[in-house]
Amino acid sequence: MLKVLSVAGTRPNFVKIAPLLAEMRRCPGVRPVLVHSGQHFDREMSGCFLDELGIPAPDFVLRPRPSASPGEMMPALRELMRNERPHVVLVVGDVNSTLAGAEAAAVLGIPVAHVEAGLRSFDSGMPEEANRIATDALSSLLFASEPSAVGNLLAEGRPRNRIFLAGNVMIDTLTQFLAVARRSTVLARLGIAAESGTLPRYAVATLHRPATVDDPAVLGRVWGALEEVAAEVPVVFPVHPRTQARLRDCGLADPDAARGIRLTGPLPYLDFVRLESAAALVMTDSGGVQEETTAMRVPCLTLRNNTERPITVHEGTNQIVGLEPAAIVAAARAVLSGSVRIGRVPRLWDGRSARRIVSTLCRHYGSRREPVASAIRIPAQAVPAAAVC
Ligand code: UDP
Repeated sequence: MLKVLSVAGTRPNFVKIAPLLAEMRRCPGVRPVLVHSGQHFDREMSGCFLDELGIPAPDFVLRPRPSASPGEMMPALRELMRNERPHVVLVVGDVNSTLAGAEAAAVLGIPVAHVEAGLRSFDSGMPEEANRIATDALSSLLFASEPSAVGNLLAEGRPRNRIFLAGNVMIDTLTQFLAVARRSTVLARLGIAAESGTLPRYAVATLHRPATVDDPAVLGRVWGALEEVAAEVPVVFPVHPRTQARLRDCGLADPDAARGIRLTGPLPYLDFVRLESAAALVMTDSGGVQEETTAMRVPCLTLRNNTERPITVHEGTNQIVGLEPAAIVAAARAVLSGSVRIGRVPRLWDGRSARRIVSTLCRHYGSRREPVASAIRIPAQAVPAAAVC
């Protein structure tokens, strides 16, 4: 029996781990163990995701101090892994829990598999970039979501036979839940639409990265841009807890003062996907939201100077507009006046990435059976420089 210990601890981690856990549970030769690292712990960033996405109760739950670094989280994970003795540790994404899980496994000599390997913003000021590079350096199996990530890993000297283009597990979750999400009544609850009738145009904003929200001057200018967009269409802004605190510090958190910007707390997944799916425009600094909008062909403006997900720009609906208000407002107006690129959904973002990944884990780490191999359709086209798993 192949024992796979997964570490997840944040909102995007839960969205990514859900299809992997479901796939492992379907495999008779695999025993999944889930560790909740406790990085996000409140109901709106954690519990409701476990419930909505059908993630089973974690086998272990840790409670690090809020904003713990990977180094602070690592010892508890190491002790847990020492007792559990998994055959492989599976980590997803680029948050502190990702790196902490990889480090804990590596010091015990347990192989690490990283899902979403190889993404690079080439922005050394971004905390997630350090987590990505270090996690990949510690990983034995590297599952990439887009070809650029494969190229980055090869350029960093990672062995070709350890890199797999697997597609995007976040889009597996989206594919699975989109129809259910479309039945969400969130638009009526937010006062965007009547229960029945035509849907007015609206925009969605999400911001949570330190580079966007930590400097009051930057946040104030971005806020000003959102207000200008909100003069044209309602802007719904589900506020991340980190951003909530920063808006409060700047005196911007009062919904009555938020001229046209409709502030709400972080939304549960199904409500948020519903909101994204029908939006005329999404403005974001989120990684996952760039991918989901590309998959749903919703226009997206990324309020950053770079992206580690270039396929969303080259093939999808994403534009990098930076943080200058004039550029944000001009790009938003262009989209709202009909200048939109429909784009195409990237190859292998097909809802079957978790299946490919679990099958590859079984092949590499010797599950007694090959549980899903016969069910997998391996795409015919050769991918330069890496195996499609
Ligand atoms: N999301 C959500 N509710 C919200 C905002 C985002 O469910 O109010 C989901 C979104 O659909 C995506 C994920 O959270 O699946 C993205 O997480 P986040 O933006 O926090 O992290 P990042 O992707 O930037 O790492």
